[in-house]
Amino acid sequence: MSDNQELHALFGGTFDPIHFGHLKPVEALAAMTGLSKITLLPNNVPPHRPQPEATPAQRVAMVRLAIAGNPLFDLDLREMERETPSWTFETLTALRQTRGEKQPLAFIIGQDSLLSLHKWHRWQDLLSLTHLLVLKRPGYNNQLETPELQQWLSKHLTADPRQLHASPAGKIYLASTPLLAISATEIRTRRHHNQPCDGLLPAAVLAFINDAGLYRNP
Ligand code: ATP
Repeated sequence: MSDNQELHALFGGTFDPIHFGHLKPVEALAAMTGLSKITLLPNNVPPHRPQPEATPAQRVAMVRLAIAGNPLFDLDLREMERETPSWTFETLTALRQTRGEKQPLAFIIGQDSLLSLHKWHRWQDLLSLTHLLVLKRPGYNNQLETPELQQWLSKHLTADPRQLHASPAGKIYLASTPLLAISATEIRTRRHHNQPCDGLLPAAVLAFINDAGLYRNP
């Protein structure tokens, strides 16, 4: 794809654990939109919210194993290392300060996250900092939760990936990524019931989970 400027994307998640439902759609997205890098941003889950089963160190170790040797990906631990809840808006503001105002930046979310985006801190301001790239996710329709969110989406939508390279921020791209019916919840539940998880996540991550005895106790 011919592009004006390199497009760098960020992909936040709890990654408890990271799985092929994260990895395969974003790899397809990179090919579709010409992403030069995808930075994975594991979340710090605030104390008042249900806690991940894996420790922060284990979640990071699994992400590292999943992306080892793949130059498309890197890892940013800034949200994980904060003591306070990490709002995407704040993370993107900090990134803008180091990268400057001109570099095209994109934030990747799954379709389920888009439907309730109006609950995110300063959601309408996100597009002043980044483009938004949305992955398809099986089981979710396009029914946004509020008319305000629908209007905002329509206003900023583009079907042309070249526009993502032509400006630093401000567009929403709904990508036709492959549908993978995999969730971290399903993987944890399968483990709780002693069911196999082969093919749902990278073998090295599954080996780590087995070695650490993770997701055994519901
Ligand atoms: P859990 O089941 O624990 O809620 P999850 O599998 O949804 O976890 P997260 O780490 O919470 O994974 O997700 C990070 C991001 O990845 C979110 O934006 C989510 O929408 C997206 N995502 C997760 N799984 C898929 C999938 N199978 N297809 C597309 N997007 C996905």
